[in-house]
Amino acid sequence: MNDLPSGVADQAGDYATSSPLSRLKDARWQLLALLGLSGASVVFYELPINAVLAALLLMVFVIAFLPRRPRSRRLEVVKQRELRRMWPGTGMKLTVDALPSPCFVADGRGITRYINRAALRNYGDLKAGDPLSFFLRAPSVLEAFDRVCSSGSAERITWSEKAPTEAWYEAYVSPVFMPKSASGGRGAGRPDFVLVVIHDQTEQRRLERMRSDFVANASHELRTPLASLSGFIETLQGPAKDDAVARERFLAIMQEQAERMRRLIDDILSLSRIELKAHVRPSSRVDLAGVVRHTVDALGPVAKDLGIQIETKVPDTEVLINGDRDELIQVLENLIENALKYGASGGKVTVSLAADPTGRAQGCWALSVTDYGEGIPSEHLPRLTERFYRVPVKDGQPKKGTGLGLAIVKHILNRHRARLDIESTAGKGTTFRSVFPALGDN
Ligand code: ADP
Repeated sequence: MNDLPSGVADQAGDYATSSPLSRLKDARWQLLALLGLSGASVVFYELPINAVLAALLLMVFVIAFLPRRPRSRRLEVVKQRELRRMWPGTGMKLTVDALPSPCFVADGRGITRYINRAALRNYGDLKAGDPLSFFLRAPSVLEAFDRVCSSGSAERITWSEKAPTEAWYEAYVSPVFMPKSASGGRGAGRPDFVLVVIHDQTEQRRLERMRSDFVANASHELRTPLASLSGFIETLQGPAKDDAVARERFLAIMQEQAERMRRLIDDILSLSRIELKAHVRPSSRVDLAGVVRHTVDALGPVAKDLGIQIETKVPDTEVLINGDRDELIQVLENLIENALKYGASGGKVTVSLAADPTGRAQGCWALSVTDYGEGIPSEHLPRLTERFYRVPVKDGQPKKGTGLGLAIVKHILNRHRARLDIESTAGKGTTFRSVFPALGDN
């Protein structure tokens, strides 16, 4: 960075002279031009010759005798100016481009001098010369930038954004000093440039939140069956030690509670696995009609045991969408199991696959699971897909599920860019409709 292009030093040398005579010699062309100008102003504009002569003499005096900066200082100023004009150089640009995070080099006024490739990818249509505030709108970053410009010390800040989706960022705002000004040559600690490097922390925060949610929810949900299990163990060790009938009854309840704990753990793990790949679009092709037939066949025995008939309305041909077969089976299993569990009183469940009846977009497919049970009160509909949300049951009735089934359904559908519509009428039943985009649209 210290190397100047040839000619800059020579150019700097022209600015300084050691004696009045040599200074006048150096400025001979300027003096000659001044003389010509003075002559012209007397001849053409008829200015008083005395005044013109006096001005000319004053200029000669200024050039010859007025104190000037020492040669070395003048040379340094020119060097610095040229370095700043050329910075960042090719080497610096290549280095900044190699960084995976968005990176901006700006001058002290907040005007960008270089924007690396990652920033261009993330922030779209940008160009060097635009003010930093065009694309970094968070006030805390701009305030940090101003502080770094005045103090010359690096800062790390974090901030979050709510729209379009919740996101967290971290920025390192570091001063860049040109070699001379670093040693105090220019201003008191003011950097020549500022480097802003931005890290997207969203994924990390999401994982942290997922982990803490997991601990909070799982411990809360597991506590009930666990308390019941340890209560029964104590009873079997103490008062019911020799009661064979009670032992059989308690063991059956304990098995039920242990089974509930297993279901909870399976669902929580399944949900976090799906959340981890939420942003990866499924790439394989799946026959949705085949998924329906397979799942209905698999749940046939369960429905038969409950005395419920499953009716299917599926096209005979293949219905291809972009999807993950196992996940789509999980969606349908959860919806049909819910229909069997909560809509049993209707005695029938209908699973149908048809072109989207709302007709909002061409080529979309709607997969509907309808039961003819009691229905869901409308105030609960918006919250059904929240984790661990269950429609309150009448006192004394056991809670049937884990409250995670529809959250899993929602996450899988999001990943497939599909929409979930829930329609329910009290006393008539409920329809869960998943609308998938046309093949190739997701
Ligand atoms: P769960 O494991 O409790 O079934 P879900 O997330 O699958 O968890 O469902 C959440 C709640 O939504 C259930 O507890 C139930 O109250 C309600 N629900 C889901 N499906 C139906 C349905 N077909 N009919 C009535 N209520 C339903």
